Amino acid sequence: MNNIILDELPLDLKNPFNFNKLYTRESCNVSVIWIVYDKNKKIILSKGVSRPCGFNHGKTSIHAEQQAINYCRRNNNKTKYVIYIWRYGKTGNVKPMYCCTQCTKMAKKYNYTNKIFTFNQDNICPAVIDDPPLSLAYKTYLNKTYLNKI
Ligand SMILES: [Zn+2]
Repeated sequence: MNNIILDELPLDLKNPFNFNKLYTRESCNVSVIWIVYDKNKKIILSKGVSRPCGFNHGKTSIHAEQQAINYCRRNNNKTKYVIYIWRYGKTGNVKPMYCCTQCTKMAKKYNYTNKIFTFNQDNICPAVIDDPPLSLAYKTYLNKTYLNKI
């Protein structure tokens, strides 16, 4: 069990959740934690963790934002729900996570670009940004493609 003390989130939560349950030392920094938050009731409606490929016995991982968007679409209450994504560092510090190119496309398709946020030094910031990072899997793919050519 890990007894690391995780940073508190800059959120008003009526149903606090112990995120230690989602934190693992081996996959911190790369695992992305997501919550769907009801901003009227100030409660977490759903949460989960997206681990990178390899931690899931070779299954392709579904990105945190995709899981969260799927939850919102199933429950279809667009006005009240917001999505937060972030990571924890080795010391339990909160680190921002920005949507990758694929998730940005999905967020645009379903009109969620202004509903996904991340935490950066106690601030809440948009997670959909102008110049989205490539996903880890895609980076690995590019590296392999590059290596095959040389
Ligand atoms: Zn993504």
